[in-house]
Amino acid sequence: MRFPLVMKFGGAGLADGAAVRRACTLVQEVPGPPPILVVSAHGGVTAELERCAERAVLGEFDLEALRIRHKSLIRELGLEPELLDRLLGELGQVLYAISDRRRIFAEEMDFVLSFGERMSARVVAAALREAGIPATPVDAYDLGLTTDSCHGDARPLPGLEGSLRRSLEEIAGIPVVTGFLAKDGRGNLTTLGRNGSDLTASLVARSVGARRLVFWKPVAGIMDGDPDKVPTARVLTGMSMLEASAMAFHGAGVLHPSTLQPLLDTEVTIEVRDVRSPDAPGTRLDHRESSARPVAVTGIDRLEGLRVRNDGGEAAANLFALLHINHVRPRYLKVAVDAVTLYAPSTPGFQVLRRELSERAESLPQLASVVLIGAAKQGVGLRALEVLGASGVDPVYSQLDADGQCQLFLVEANQQAIAAEALHREWFALESPSSAPG
Ligand code: ASP
Ligand code: MG
Repeated sequence: MRFPLVMKFGGAGLADGAAVRRACTLVQEVPGPPPILVVSAHGGVTAELERCAERAVLGEFDLEALRIRHKSLIRELGLEPELLDRLLGELGQVLYAISDRRRIFAEEMDFVLSFGERMSARVVAAALREAGIPATPVDAYDLGLTTDSCHGDARPLPGLEGSLRRSLEEIAGIPVVTGFLAKDGRGNLTTLGRNGSDLTASLVARSVGARRLVFWKPVAGIMDGDPDKVPTARVLTGMSMLEASAMAFHGAGVLHPSTLQPLLDTEVTIEVRDVRSPDAPGTRLDHRESSARPVAVTGIDRLEGLRVRNDGGEAAANLFALLHINHVRPRYLKVAVDAVTLYAPSTPGFQVLRRELSERAESLPQLASVVLIGAAKQGVGLRALEVLGASGVDPVYSQLDADGQCQLFLVEANQQAIAAEALHREWFALESPSSAPG
């Protein structure tokens, strides 16, 4: 196996010269065959690129902050001063064109955002070479990572593995692959949605048949609750892929919601490790059976709701097609005789859906979700409802799942933290800080 290991470094793990050096050391310390790296833009760069594009639409051209940021990174690392000049020049041209026209097309936004990862892959590869490790920066779309044309939230097309694997095998030294970026069938640049470089890493790991995929992040691991809402939340040492996948889907921000999907039917083991503390074990996700009891509480702060009139089966069928096309993946969905009620995150696709359905749908007030994760036996959902009631939380909707991965409650935003804490206290407060039984 040429590539048993894929290492993904997020923006925080590459935020400055010291961070890039630390990443290089982690790569250097890998025993055995060289890994594949997948990298995000340097921390904060994607957001800054977004601001540059927004300012350009207002007619302002301002690339200075980004130029200085990257130039000083290069200097800190002692790399060739011209390393990014061509890319910075190209970025300047596109921003200038937008500021001249005062309008931006969706594919242009993706093009602007792409410079973050394209520059960081070049910086990381150059820093590795500087440390004596052969490495080549690679733009993921040149490997054949192809998606649909849903700009800003594109999804990979099926059947990419062969071309990804063959292209990666031809690369000299360690491939340093841009996360987040792809192209559609027409050759336009696309992005996989914010935090989408996790998904790139999963696709790469699947394609090369890697045994391990390590996500280096600025967190201690996956926690059994959101520490902002549940002060007693603790790091989980391990959980099943399905549980982790449900957790990502229902809002645990540590992984992009689609990250684990390409890996559910593989053998790969995932580690979520703390880039600030590389010796800590972090959280391990593997193909163990899910736990027999809840393992964590998570949730999404803001979900948008729609109530769609269901005049006949065809209307419902049409709705499902629209959900699919616009990548709207409802977290709550109820089909009744007269209407379909759904709640989903406020993505660009959701806004399109709302417009397209405006004739037969009404918007519902925003809500927050609180989700108890873990293969729940009968009774857990009802007990959760009692616990919420006793804390004065009155869910607007509940979706109980007697043998699935989660119990979901939609609550008013101001009740979300109370609800999360109450559920956490009920199931996790008195346990020792370790994983659920495997
Ligand atoms: N750079 C992109 C973002 O900040 C993608 C990623 O980091 O995963 O969202
Ligand atoms: Mg990131």
